[in-house]
Amino acid sequence: MPEVKEKGGISVERNNIFPVIKRWLYSEKEIFLREIVSNASDAVTKLKRLSSLGKAEDFDGYRINVTIDKENSTLTVSDNGIGMSEDEVKKYICQVALSGALEFIEKYEGESEGAGNGIIGHFGLGFYSAFMVSDTVELITRSFDGSPSCRWVCTSDGEYEIFDGEREERGTDVIMHITEEESEFLEEARIKGILKKYCSFLPVPVYLNISESDKEAEQINNTNPLWQKKPSECTDEEYKSFYNEVFGDFREPLFHIHLNADYPLNFKGILYFPKINANTDSLEGQVKLYYNQVFVADNIKEVIPEYMLMLKGVLDCPELPLNVSRSYLQNNTYVSKLSAHIVKKVADKFNSMFATDREAFEKIWGDCKVFFEYASLRDSKFNDRVKNSYLLKCTDGKFRTLSEYLEEAKETNENIVYYCTDEAAQAQYISMLTSGGVNVVVFDHILDIQYAGLCEKDNVKFMCVDSDISSSVKEEAEEYNDDSLVSTFKEICPEGTEIKFEALKDESIPALLTSKEEERRMADMMRMYGMGVPDKEKMTLSLNSNSKLIRSLSDKDSETVKAMAKEIYFLSLLGKRSLDKDELNTLLRHSYSILEKAVGDK
Ligand code: ADP
Repeated sequence: MPEVKEKGGISVERNNIFPVIKRWLYSEKEIFLREIVSNASDAVTKLKRLSSLGKAEDFDGYRINVTIDKENSTLTVSDNGIGMSEDEVKKYICQVALSGALEFIEKYEGESEGAGNGIIGHFGLGFYSAFMVSDTVELITRSFDGSPSCRWVCTSDGEYEIFDGEREERGTDVIMHITEEESEFLEEARIKGILKKYCSFLPVPVYLNISESDKEAEQINNTNPLWQKKPSECTDEEYKSFYNEVFGDFREPLFHIHLNADYPLNFKGILYFPKINANTDSLEGQVKLYYNQVFVADNIKEVIPEYMLMLKGVLDCPELPLNVSRSYLQNNTYVSKLSAHIVKKVADKFNSMFATDREAFEKIWGDCKVFFEYASLRDSKFNDRVKNSYLLKCTDGKFRTLSEYLEEAKETNENIVYYCTDEAAQAQYISMLTSGGVNVVVFDHILDIQYAGLCEKDNVKFMCVDSDISSSVKEEAEEYNDDSLVSTFKEICPEGTEIKFEALKDESIPALLTSKEEERRMADMMRMYGMGVPDKEKMTLSLNSNSKLIRSLSDKDSETVKAMAKEIYFLSLLGKRSLDKDELNTLLRHSYSILEKAVGDK
């Protein structure tokens, strides 16, 4: 039996904190491994720093070994970093680490969300988090400064003993004796999973070893993640493969932004624009937050604006106070600066793609439009930065900015942007406008029209092709009226339909149905929020006074006029939107009867 050099109880300061640690963060016990492995990584980093200052010898074999020993129910984390002398163990482990853990627990134990749930990444519990899964923790260490090795053993009742250690090499072993209930932490797959999650990019090589196994130790991490490199030194290929590696998404991202902010923000990261099919894919991305290459958590909306979470990427923020609660982050000035910086970088990227390679930008526009619109709707500052790079795709296949569109529209439809929401159903309106020299914008997502609402502020109006009869398709003509025709149409059309005469340039169209822009937008909104659609759409039927068909009705018998009016109404409806089953049935039967009449009785 080795001689006990010192005995102590760590629970003196507060009646046994160990049961509290055991309960702590019950749902995320796995973070203990991150805490212990990142301590090992810090120990190596400290020694590297000393060696770079000439205070310790040069060495290039730094590594961390994580070893599962099922037979002895231990999980060991060993490093060859700075190590500790006996005095340092007493100071750092028995005092600093303990009071850190105590302070942390006292601060957050009472949080209403439940122990620790409100704490980002659960950083801060530190070394003593090992007791979440162990009944005894041993630490065998030897300092780089040559002082003798020592062994510290502590049980979960808080009693510790210090012995002379047997370690010959500089560094530290933390041996966790895993309790029976937590035996999952002796399973290779579980430990590998945790290491992959938190330690994939740790700066020191981490190896997973299985005791009494022939398996060669496997390196878990990439110690030099791409975000740490200078953007000028990274190739497109590297960006793509890093994206595949981190997100397991084999579709190529549309583009990326390498963030590299110096003092005082001091953070790095890469954001990717994934290829999303706006109508089918979920719009939720994944932004992983790291603290000095140690994974903290995904999608922290207190740090990154919510709309940026549609992107995928990594952010490494060593300055972030990550062991604080979410509410603290919400009011933190560093966080708001960081957030503003990211927003600015994303906006700059859009603008630079627009300005430097318009053709390439147009190619990916369809895939990033939804992000652009959503972000702009959420954040007016973002919109102010990017609005001049917004593209309107037109039915002629060309992309125009709003100002390019308006410039071209000067002669025809000043300050009105015509859009369609269904190129096939609205074909008649589109061709009328385009043959009159008007460009028609294709809107294919509900956000398009909402974004259009933002653009309308500057005295510009957006109109659906079937909301308004553009002056460019009308002709200046003498006023024409035929009261009896109007009343026949009133009888035929649904109640509330307004009937009037217009002189359209295209004589072949007898009548056009339009509905009010505001009402259609309201209906679209209601549909989007699942509030049902208002059952009656109020429409206006404009009878074309230039149409021979319309004019010829003035001297026909009332039965013919009625039959023709009905046919014209249904055809106008068909020209405006797809018909429901009753409407289609009515139209077909009515058309057959007209054909029958046309060929006569025999
Ligand atoms: P923190 O890492 O946040 O300081 P911890 O409770 O995890 O808090 O650790 C307390 C201290 O114990 C560390 O600051 C360090 O001085 C010392 N320590 C822990 N693990 C090691 C290790 N593997 N090698 C050297 N020192 C260590």
